Amino acid sequence: MELTFVEKKLRQALSAKRYRHSVGVSQTAAELAERFDADIDRATVAGLLHDCARELPNKTLLKRAADSAIVVGSLEESSPVLLHAVVSARLAAEEYGVQDEAVLRAIALHTTGGAGMGKLDKIIFLADFIEPGRIFPGVDRLRELADRNLDKAVLAAFDQTIRHLLDKGMVIHPASVAGRNELLLSLHDK
Ligand code: FE
Ligand code: FE
Repeated sequence: MELTFVEKKLRQALSAKRYRHSVGVSQTAAELAERFDADIDRATVAGLLHDCARELPNKTLLKRAADSAIVVGSLEESSPVLLHAVVSARLAAEEYGVQDEAVLRAIALHTTGGAGMGKLDKIIFLADFIEPGRIFPGVDRLRELADRNLDKAVLAAFDQTIRHLLDKGMVIHPASVAGRNELLLSLHDK
């Protein structure tokens, strides 16, 4: 797959700001892949395309999901933006020519995370949090953890998101809880 084709097309699909974010995620994911011994090319492409459907209107996200037989839960119905992850995976396959299932899966899981995340899934999830353009309290601690331990960094990212949602009185996606619990238990076993 040609990266310049992907980059050109993506630049048209996204605002300048989101495009920069996507390039940041791509580069951060590549660094994490190198550090933690995952496939750098896969990480690069998944990072670049993870948000390719992020700027579609809610109506389009819902329609795309319905067309692709994606299960739309009540959470997704009330916050269609959640669907941008699975719809991005779909667009990556259909419009950007990505056939690699591992890449598509990492894109689909990047927003909520979930149980059974593999190394590439974790890398994209984490890169989305810590790419250089991200500024939020605690991001430096996440970056430090990401220098040393992928699982601990991903766990801290889950904790941070869930804590933030609780503080704001917002709904927590069950996939995030499942992902966090699984990771926490696996770290206990070590
Ligand atoms: Fe996203
Ligand atoms: Fe993102």
